[in-house]
Amino acid sequence: MEAAMYEGNQMQMDTEPPLDNEMEQDMMALADDEWLALTENEPEESPSVITPSIEHIMTGRPPNMLYLSCDGKYLTDYHVLLRKQIQFFEANEEESRAAAQGRNKPIVVGQVGIRCMHCALVPPDKRTRGAVYFPSKLEGVYQMALSMSNTHLCDTCPHIPKDLQQQLIFLRDMKQVVSGTGKNAWALRAGALGVYEDGYGLRYKSTLLG
Ligand SMILES: [Zn+2]
Repeated sequence: MEAAMYEGNQMQMDTEPPLDNEMEQDMMALADDEWLALTENEPEESPSVITPSIEHIMTGRPPNMLYLSCDGKYLTDYHVLLRKQIQFFEANEEESRAAAQGRNKPIVVGQVGIRCMHCALVPPDKRTRGAVYFPSKLEGVYQMALSMSNTHLCDTCPHIPKDLQQQLIFLRDMKQVVSGTGKNAWALRAGALGVYEDGYGLRYKSTLLG
């Protein structure tokens, strides 16, 4: 018994190193063959890359007005009043579905857009023209807000109080010009409100500090 165990151990010690080397070489060769077979014959089975920007994630943050308390110091009266009529909001399933019509690039759940404050509670498919926009970049917020003003707030919005609409039209038509109040100023303010661009569209940061 002892002799047999010793013999066994001895055999193992004698044969182990060469066997291991041969086995390693065989395994490497097999692995190479398998890898070649996979890459040459079945490339379509490789795992696909997932684009993080179109993941359907909502932060759950409530909508917030574009206007900031410091706006009056730097922006024109027209822009200040306009920014009080528009809010950032996060698209849910319903908003995403409604916004998808007539678009090449879908609006994804969790994407942040701008919409008329006065039509915020109107079902997405019942709103009048120009009530909602989805800028793909922070710099696009400015131009789309001006479009919303012309096509919706100063025109077709059925819910903005009439005196407020008249005041907005009056200030717009004054064409007051102040330097440094354009798209960059609006983009900076959007960033201060926790909105960022992810390469696909706008999003809310998960926390204001993040
Ligand atoms: Zn409206």
